[in-house]
Amino acid sequence: MSYLSDSRVNYIVIHYSATAIEVEYPYGRLEADHLARGFREGGYHYYLPRKGGRIAGRDLSQAGRFEMGAHSKGENVESVGICFEGGLTRDDMQTGRDTRTAGQVDEMIRTILELKKRYPNAKVTGHRDMPGAATQCPGFDAGKWWDGVMASPELMGADEVRGVSLDWAKEQPKPAGVTIPTGKMQANPITALFAALASFFAGKKP
Ligand SMILES: [Zn+2]
Repeated sequence: MSYLSDSRVNYIVIHYSATAIEVEYPYGRLEADHLARGFREGGYHYYLPRKGGRIAGRDLSQAGRFEMGAHSKGENVESVGICFEGGLTRDDMQTGRDTRTAGQVDEMIRTILELKKRYPNAKVTGHRDMPGAATQCPGFDAGKWWDGVMASPELMGADEVRGVSLDWAKEQPKPAGVTIPTGKMQANPITALFAALASFFAGKKP
């Protein structure tokens, strides 16, 4: 494992798993795919499954330093990566899209807010907008989306692909990683979201 100082983090990079939303892509599978590509473990710091929750990948549990990820070539030394499950649909496997569910959006906001407390100067950006990237990932302008969240968080829960039939919905295999309980977030996402935003902004005041 390779750790670097927190002071190096300039980016919070958003990714998709580049898989069709009709078929579940559990964390165990993502990790197996990353191992096949020569990584020691999953390359992201967090994975956000469509069915909810959040899985911790590369280690962020230590004070003052982070485990370097493998998610944004050339910028892994200065970034942490969040990946949401999906990004493609079966009818068009060539076009990356924002397929996030409302739950994934909420979880992503919560995760970014946590990371921004630790890395206040880090810029939220999509993989495709990183220097030197040649990818559609994550299928939308993540920087612009984040600016919008900061401006009006209540507008950001829309899921343009809600209603698509999901083969995996009945069965939920246990993920291989560590699932962090989402607590109040699942019970009442909007209330918890505003509470999180409120505490974030409160924390910024001198
Ligand atoms: Zn990516």
